[in-house]
Parts: sequence; C-alpha cells; structure tokens
Amino acid sequence: MRALVVGLGVAGMAAAIALSGAGWTPVIVERAPARRTGGYFVGLFPAGKKAASRLGVFDAMHLRTPADHRTWAVDAAGVRRRSVGFLDQPGQPEGTMRGDVEAALWDGLSPDTEIRFGTGPRSIRQAGDAVHVDLGAGPERFDLVVGADGLRSTVRRLAFGPDERFLRPNHSVICTFSLDGPVPGYSGSDQLALVEPGRSLWIFPYRDRPPTALFAYRARDVAAELRKDPAEALAARYAGMGGPVPWVLDRLGSAPERLFDSVQQVRMRHWHRGRVLLLGDAAWCLTLYSGMGASTGMMGAAELGDALTAEPTVARALRRWERRMRPTIRTHQLIAHVKGEGFVPSSPFNHGVRRVVVGQAAKLLIREPRPAMGLS
Ligand SMILES: Cc1cc2nc3c(=O)[nH]c(=O)nc-3n(C[C@H](O)[C@H](O)[C@H](O)COP(=O)(O)OP(=O)(O)OC[C@H]3O[C@@H](n4cnc5c(N)ncnc54)[C@H](O)[C@@H]3O)c2cc1C
Repeated sequence: MRALVVGLGVAGMAAAIALSGAGWTPVIVERAPARRTGGYFVGLFPAGKKAASRLGVFDAMHLRTPADHRTWAVDAAGVRRRSVGFLDQPGQPEGTMRGDVEAALWDGLSPDTEIRFGTGPRSIRQAGDAVHVDLGAGPERFDLVVGADGLRSTVRRLAFGPDERFLRPNHSVICTFSLDGPVPGYSGSDQLALVEPGRSLWIFPYRDRPPTALFAYRARDVAAELRKDPAEALAARYAGMGGPVPWVLDRLGSAPERLFDSVQQVRMRHWHRGRVLLLGDAAWCLTLYSGMGASTGMMGAAELGDALTAEPTVARALRRWERRMRPTIRTHQLIAHVKGEGFVPSSPFNHGVRRVVVGQAAKLLIREPRPAMGLS
C-alpha cells in the first residue's frame, strides 16, 4: 500500500515512520527545495517524549535544557525578580529547537522512503479505494494521502474546503529568532519573561547554543501587522518597553532566520475524508501557546500507525484513529487559550490574574539555597 505524505515537517516525517512501521510504503513530497533546519524553541512535554519513543526517535533527539536554568520576570524598566516560566511547568518540558525534533525524525525515516523536494499537490481526486494526486506530472495513484502540510495546508484546501472555514484567529502576532549570545547581564541559562497586558518578550535558554527570543503581542488587525516590516512593527508595538527589549530588537536584523506570523487554531469536525487524512498543524493547529503542537503531531502519527496495523480496513483504521485523537486535541485546544493568556495577557485584568498565579507558583517552586546561619 502506497501513501503520499505531504510535508516534511514534524508531522509528515512522524507519519512516514509510522506508516513504514505498519507495512506501508510512504512517499513524501515537500514544497521547499531542501530539508529545513533551525527553527525556534520547542518544549517537549511527557506526552511528546512518549510519542517520540513510540516512533523510535526519542533517544536520538538533541535536548538542550540547561541543567541550571533560572527564570526571571523582568519589568519594563529592566528590574528583575526570580519567577517561573515555560521550562518550570509540571512535566518538566525538555527544551529543543524545532530542527532538533525534525533531525531525529529524519534519521528515523526508513532508508527506502522516497522523498521528492520542490513539489506538492495540485489536485486530489478520490475514486473507490484510490486517491489520484497531481504532483505536477499528471495524476498518480495512492492508497492513502496524509496532509501534514501545516497551518495553511494545501491538502486541506483541496480535499476539505477553504481556510476560512477552519482557521480560528487568536488576534495575536509572534516574531521569533535566534540571538547571537545571552542577553547582557544574564547568563546563557536564564529564561526571561517580560509580560505586560497585550505584549510580551520571552527569552528561551539552551545549554549549548545561544538563546532564542519570542515576541508575542495582541493586535486587532493582524493582517495589517503582517504587511509591515517586522522590525518596524515590533519597534512600534514595544515602544517604551525598556530592560533587554531594545538590545533584543537590535538583533532582529542580523538574525539568520526569523518567523513573523499570526497565531491561529485549526478547528475541524473531521480530519479525514475517504482516504485523505490531515495530521499535525494542518488538522488541529493548537497554536504555539499550547506547547503541544510538535508532541501531538508525533502522537497522531504513532496512533495512525497503530490503527492501520490493528484494523482490517483503512476506513475502520481512520475512524479509530480519529476517535483516539479527538479528546486529546479538544483538551489542548481549550487549554491553549488559557496558556495564551499566560504568554501574552489580552487585558489588564488577565495580566493581574497571571501575576497572582505565577507569583504563587514561584513561591512553591523556587527553592533558593538558604544563606548560611552563624555569627560573623
Ligand atoms: C514560535 C513557535 C513555538 C512553538 N513551540 C512549541 C513547543 O514548545 N512545543 C510544541 O510541541 N510545539 C510548539 N510549536 C508548534 C510546533 O512547532 C508545530 O505544531 C509543529 O512544528 C507543526 O508541524 P507540522 O509538521 O504539522 O507542520 P509544519 O511545521 O508547518 O510543516 C509543514 C511542512 O509542509 C510543507 N508544505 C507546506 N505546504 C506544502 C505543499 N503544498 N506541498 C508540499 N509541502 C508543503 C512545509 O514546507 C513544511 O515543511 C511552536 C510553534 C511556533 C511557531
């Protein structure tokens, strides 16, 4: 059985590994001319580590959480106090780069997996048990198509309908990029959170590479923001915010790559239609705020492999797969809204609630060494 996997990201490679494991022959097509590397900070929660283990790639994954990381809440004037942040959450997420997760999956692909770069589907037509996909050289027959082509999925558009039916805007914008070194005055193991109503800056540390920065801000007209030059948009939106903000903004121009994008969820009642199935951000993009996008992409792939192995027909396997994934995704889509308020509060009230919650968590979790007692 031949499966076409569209997209060479986390979900696509995870799907190809799971399909090979279930006895299928995957063919991956990727629009870009080559495999991408780098990316941005990705935290792996226990569910993601477990999914990566099921796919046989977790041991090869490059994990970069600094052993001695500390989190600082920094105010607009640059005053810092110990706090808790992403890496301190329950489950102790492991810090990696998206490229690290993808590199482990790449190495885990079966050697006979065919990969075609610089192409993607132009049309998809289903007839009986066959799916005919035009990849630029006329219709080609597959037994299954997995659309793992991200938030603005072409497979979803061709087989399910236009983006507007499925995308749910979060009314926020992010910009993330690598720094060339630690923020002055801080160590490379320090995690920084500058959070105000409607705008925030996060610095994520690694044990063996410079930190990455993530600006996240709320915007009424997201499309208008995205038409701007990122440096100008950020300079305007973060005007008056001091501390490390000007230094970090200065690094944007020389960053080797950056992502400047809107934040949106994908909501769908069904993730498969006949033998065309969506996986990862294409199916259920949770938003970065959930911290579970890469994890659920791998989880969805592992579940797909299990379902195809366990069920006698493809139709039953896909129904079983959706039943298994739906509760998990529903939960994380809801939690993402709450976590989003933690990343970048949408109002002064939510900012106040965040301060109380984070303050209490910091009291519980931060164990500073007690000063030595004695006479001097
Ligand atoms: C700033 C940021 C921080 C994040 N932090 C976390 C985190 O801490 N933890 C976590 O688990 N997740 C996190 N995520 C989410 C996670 O990165 C994504 O959920 C995950 O990478 C999505 O993988 P994917 O394979 O579904 O889609 P994508 O990564 O979008 O990959 C899709 C692939 O398909 C290709 N493609 C697109 N269209 C076509 C086409 N027509 N034909 C062929 N190929 C095509 C693309 O080039 C790409 O290679 C974060 C995301 C962001 C943006």
